[in-house]
Amino acid sequence: MLSDEEVKLYLRAGRIAGKSLLYGMEIIHEGMPVIELCEKIEGMIVKLGGQPAFPCNISINDVAAHYTSPPDDDLTVPKGSLVKIDVGVHVNGYIADTAGTVAFRPEHERLMLASKKALEAALTAIKSGVSLGMIGTIIERTARGYGFTTIRNLTGHKIKPWILHAGKSVPNVSTMTLERMKEGEVYAIEPFLTPGKGFVVEEDRTYIFSYAGGKAKGSKERALLHAIWSRFRSLPFCERWLIKIAPENSDVLQALRRKRLLYEYPVLREAGRGIVAQWEHTVIVTKKGSIVTTAIE
Ligand code: MN
Ligand code: MN
Repeated sequence: MLSDEEVKLYLRAGRIAGKSLLYGMEIIHEGMPVIELCEKIEGMIVKLGGQPAFPCNISINDVAAHYTSPPDDDLTVPKGSLVKIDVGVHVNGYIADTAGTVAFRPEHERLMLASKKALEAALTAIKSGVSLGMIGTIIERTARGYGFTTIRNLTGHKIKPWILHAGKSVPNVSTMTLERMKEGEVYAIEPFLTPGKGFVVEEDRTYIFSYAGGKAKGSKERALLHAIWSRFRSLPFCERWLIKIAPENSDVLQALRRKRLLYEYPVLREAGRGIVAQWEHTVIVTKKGSIVTTAIE
């Protein structure tokens, strides 16, 4: 069970995440440099009193997740694109994870709306005792009602302090699972919908990393690992953040990657190159329902 103080921290992180996402959805426009969007949203998180729980993800069209700007990114928001903004915030390790989709082309409105409805339908079903498989069934059924499929290899996830993916997954498809939500547990629910094949594949570019455990030998590598652990623990980070600590960290990062001291989160693309929409909220499970920590009026 969560203490009142823990609930407060989750709610504070959720409010900051919700506001920062809303801010991003307001300032985004066609032609905007993606790096500017990432940094403005991350700046807003800090301004509001939180810390990013992971680098701001800006995933465009058939890119489903895990794109954040590398340093010197020259990517801009394409004309007529569909953009997912995924924002993570923590306050003292208490995490909120929320995402929304912006469509710059009227044809994409329906996909955007369908994924929003899938999330809403899932949220209304959440309470202690509900099976994780039932949430997947509701999400998939809602998506199919609009003529779309869900991405089956991307899931929602349980959250614990300092741990973004804390074991249990919340499927986006109907699955047989006996695992149930319990009172006081915290989950991110995140349907991904597409007219494509319904699964994502890894690209061979990676901009997001996390500390995987283990020790480095060289002094520079040890120093960077120490900086990573003290700031992020095992939460995801990106090169943009490391070179703000020291420019030479760019090379040291590559050394840590070669020595397999980091987990890698490659950019994920829809297998059939279908456009992907996503909405996400973080909830605290209660006896009668849930508290959506990232909801913003
Ligand atoms: Mn997210
Ligand atoms: Mn998530």
